[in-house]
Amino acid sequence: MSRYWNSLVAKLDPYVPGEQPLVQHLIKLNTNEHPFGPSPKVIEAIKANANDDLRLYPDPTALALRRSLARRYGLASDQIFVGNGSDEVLAHVFHALLKHEQPVVFPDITYSFYPVYCGLYEIAYKTIALDDQLNIRVEDYLPGAAVGAVGGIIFPNPNAPTGAAHALDAIERIVAANQHVVVVVDEAYVDFGTDTAASLINQYPNLLVVHTLSKSRSLAGLRVGYAMGHIDLIQGLDRVKNCFNSYPLDRLAIAGATAAIEDQAYFEKTRDEVVALRTTLTLALQKLGFDVLPSKANFVFAKHPAKDGAALSAALRDKNIIVRHFKTPRIDQYLRITIGTQEECAKLLAACESILRA
Ligand SMILES: *Cc1c(COP(=O)(O)O)cnc(C)c1O
Repeated sequence: MSRYWNSLVAKLDPYVPGEQPLVQHLIKLNTNEHPFGPSPKVIEAIKANANDDLRLYPDPTALALRRSLARRYGLASDQIFVGNGSDEVLAHVFHALLKHEQPVVFPDITYSFYPVYCGLYEIAYKTIALDDQLNIRVEDYLPGAAVGAVGGIIFPNPNAPTGAAHALDAIERIVAANQHVVVVVDEAYVDFGTDTAASLINQYPNLLVVHTLSKSRSLAGLRVGYAMGHIDLIQGLDRVKNCFNSYPLDRLAIAGATAAIEDQAYFEKTRDEVVALRTTLTLALQKLGFDVLPSKANFVFAKHPAKDGAALSAALRDKNIIVRHFKTPRIDQYLRITIGTQEECAKLLAACESILRA
């Protein structure tokens, strides 16, 4: 606290990202990064663009990347907005598209950045409890349900940190029933096991789909995310972005991200490997007695009936393995474990086994 802070800053409750250790020897299964590197074509593209052109500002609209994304999703490039990671895109979404006069609605257990944006932009919000199996109940998001008047709806699909996914028809029900407000589907993990709602964009002008290259494209370090929706929504985001930072993506990020989107074969191959590792890890954890929620993401959410979540997380840390533990009510017994390489998964399992035996 400082007397130089204004009253808004004084009352902020900032997001706390998962640990990014400065030492190399840890097995890092805490922030859902991809276990394999990005496409070699990404590295080539970045190297090819590391030249004297860096003296020039980048394209403020990143048209090359938006064209590539537009082709991939069967949309027009003016239906796509890009930003410095989807966290930045989401910040602009809260600022520009979710109404500030009525509470924004999201699940009680979800991406913990949403209430932080509400704090930053002074937006009221209302949370809706997940059901007993920690799933989103679609009925709760239809008008007439307990929600009341809403200023917008946002949820991840698959949800974080549970990994639970809804099929497209369930998403469509929520979007179709709430056409008076924007419905944002945060699809950070969609590539690992469920359908994107991008195919509904031309039918629903209130639908905004948000993606990141941090997870399935293995580019968390490059900071690229994007939103897809009706041109009116994209123009709203552009207005806010151009009041904030005209150049959210640098030249290297535009080149690398475009190469990543263009290399569909590498993307599918590595994504499939992660999905196969998820199945193997789930079965092995169940064998050790864990309760593992069915996951469509690149992580699993698991608890053990004989070991406290915080204690298990700390014991794994002592064995140089970091996983994510949330002290949040209802989920404080769970660990969110990112799918690592085969070797990392094996080390995790061995560590769990020895902790549980002790
Ligand atoms: C990882 C994640 C993001 C943020 O991704 P970045 O593009 O790295 O900022 C957004 N939403 C959810 C649900 C995530 O898990």
